[in-house]
Amino acid sequence: MEMHSDSIEKIHAEVISCKSCELCKNRTNAVPGDGDSKASIMFIGEAPGRNEDEKGKPFVGMAGKILEETLTKAGLTRSSVYITNVVKCRPPNNRVPTEEERLTCRNYLEREISLVSPKIICILGRTAYQSLLGGSSILGNRGKFIQKDNRLYFLTVHPAAIIYNNKLRKVLEGDLEILVKEWRRLQVYS
Ligand code: URA
Ligand code: SF4
Repeated sequence: MEMHSDSIEKIHAEVISCKSCELCKNRTNAVPGDGDSKASIMFIGEAPGRNEDEKGKPFVGMAGKILEETLTKAGLTRSSVYITNVVKCRPPNNRVPTEEERLTCRNYLEREISLVSPKIICILGRTAYQSLLGGSSILGNRGKFIQKDNRLYFLTVHPAAIIYNNKLRKVLEGDLEILVKEWRRLQVYS
């Protein structure tokens, strides 16, 4: 018999009051994951930005708008997927979260992954690629699937990168098409 049971609600409640790393000091709100806790696709970004810190919800600013538009084009909806970040609190001036901050926050991400148990984990950009798969060049590896520890990952660019380089919009759109195609194929066998 199961002696304890974890849940997404429990993780979210812990995140909201977490003071385990330095990032708790400057935040307005911690930002737990969002969306369908039974989703078969999960997206992982880097860290909350200003808008996310204000609202307590991931991907609600400019990058979020781009992500949602691209999801729609690919035939998905925001509410049908689960969206989270490597760290749940905004780093000052949106700096990249440190190794220590990522490691401290890691238990929440691991628990989100095991509870949602998605068919595909879509890594958005370099920080998530580094943290989850030890990779470095997202542009050199995007559009690919990687199987690791019984999980299937898919790599693509971070939606925020499109704000600075609009050519990447087509790249993200094309990648999400590849993702959805594989996801549909996997549904057939489950
Ligand atoms: N960028 C991220 O990586 N995550 C967010 O939630 C928003 C912007
Ligand atoms: Fe806790 Fe993660 Fe926020 Fe650090 S970033 S305070 S570990 S929730």
